[in-house]
Amino acid sequence: MLLELLCLWLLQLGQLRGADLPYETLRERIMKAEQMASLGGNLWLTADEEKANSILMNAKRAEIAEGIKHPEKYAPAMHFFQGKQFVRQSEVFRIIQKMPKGAFLHGHNTAMVSSKWIVANLTNTNNLYTCRDINGLLIFTYDTASSKCHSEEQNVCTERINAEDRHQYERQLERHINMHSTRPESLLPNRKKIWDRFENIFTTVDRLYKYQPTYCAYHKRLLEELCEDNIMYAELRFSLSPLYDDNNRTYSSLDVANQLERIVEEFKAKHPDFVGLKVIYAKRNRATEEKMAENIRTFKQLHSAKPNFIIGFDMIGQEDTGDMLSKYVNEFSDLPSTANYFFHAGETNWYGRTDWNMMDAILLNTKRIGHGFALPKHPQLWSTIKKRNIAIEVNPLSNQVLGFIWDLRNHPASFLIAENFPIVISADDPGVWGAKGLSYDFYYAFMAMAPAEADLRFLKQLALNSIKYSVLTSLERRKFNRVFQRKWQEFIANILNPKFK
Ligand SMILES: [Zn+2]
Repeated sequence: MLLELLCLWLLQLGQLRGADLPYETLRERIMKAEQMASLGGNLWLTADEEKANSILMNAKRAEIAEGIKHPEKYAPAMHFFQGKQFVRQSEVFRIIQKMPKGAFLHGHNTAMVSSKWIVANLTNTNNLYTCRDINGLLIFTYDTASSKCHSEEQNVCTERINAEDRHQYERQLERHINMHSTRPESLLPNRKKIWDRFENIFTTVDRLYKYQPTYCAYHKRLLEELCEDNIMYAELRFSLSPLYDDNNRTYSSLDVANQLERIVEEFKAKHPDFVGLKVIYAKRNRATEEKMAENIRTFKQLHSAKPNFIIGFDMIGQEDTGDMLSKYVNEFSDLPSTANYFFHAGETNWYGRTDWNMMDAILLNTKRIGHGFALPKHPQLWSTIKKRNIAIEVNPLSNQVLGFIWDLRNHPASFLIAENFPIVISADDPGVWGAKGLSYDFYYAFMAMAPAEADLRFLKQLALNSIKYSVLTSLERRKFNRVFQRKWQEFIANILNPKFK
């Protein structure tokens, strides 16, 4: 491979020096070579796909041209909180929303569902209260005797009825479970502030989602939101923490997995094109070795009970302040051959510190890497990642909202796109920042991170990658490919239909 590249390089140099070819031809050749080598560059399009592609590209070029004239309205160069209003008017975004996107491979279950839906639909029962915890943080609870409350409990229904303006009350409630800020730049200098706010959301909803009836309603909605965004399958990180209900029953992790599996099966029965959802068991990245050994033991039990449903293990939490993967090399040493690691690694701006987690993830035989934001800085890892097809789960909006990068045109994954690394685009925690499914992240990947002339091939390759790097039985894979192909044809026909809406 290296030799080939060297030859190509010498050839190009020779051509440049020899100047046998006209200057313009050389320019074209170099640009063509880059395009061919980048993600989606060697996909072949059918005649209909070519026609749909020109519609898409006309829209893309028009948006870029408009963005050059009016940068203050050009969403791909803006922070999502400020750009979202413009994304929603975009023709390219409308096409991406309709596009079948394959699999959602990097998300955390409790941050997936839209905060607006949660407030409108999960806070209406008579037995729900809010109170303040020891740090003054608002928490939801069904259990008024909860020791977590350090203030008087307020009944949500009563408060809502008594509120002067019901919508205003709901908006104020939503602010506790959404990161939105009209001035995100004011948060940027202080990463700790951003992460505290982010992690507080999980504390606010903790008791809400641990109530079994709410847990079930929440996850049904999660599946609906995936389908509404034309996603057919997901592998999500879950903690599978025990649940409670009105009868003082406690549901164990295995009970929770059973409930989830039932919800997924019921959903599949109603939506025959939905391929499924699987669980990556995920635990905090701050723990003693003993605690982590216990986590792994629990994972192995859960996996042996449901090997095709609870498929892998990961650590979650802010990587820069958490423990390094290398701390747990002994605990992570023997995993059943049917299970996989899906480690978060390289979600950092540091160079030569936390980012070494990517090396450990690879040495520990990870199936995919969550984020890999620091990967372009580590050339020693590139060839292994390509050779072993370790997919990088890139989450553009998450990296922006959580303060790693401001302008997504500078996202390091542009390098991975140019080099056609095995990547998938995902959304991490869309529900807590007002995104939904994958469409917003696909839009930013397409408009901000990929080359201006990246086209339908790029988008299709992302969807194909997501299927390729999913963990599926051969039966599931066949179904997924079949459904995807049909939906893709429908999507192309839909774009070509003059009545496309
Ligand atoms: Zn994540």
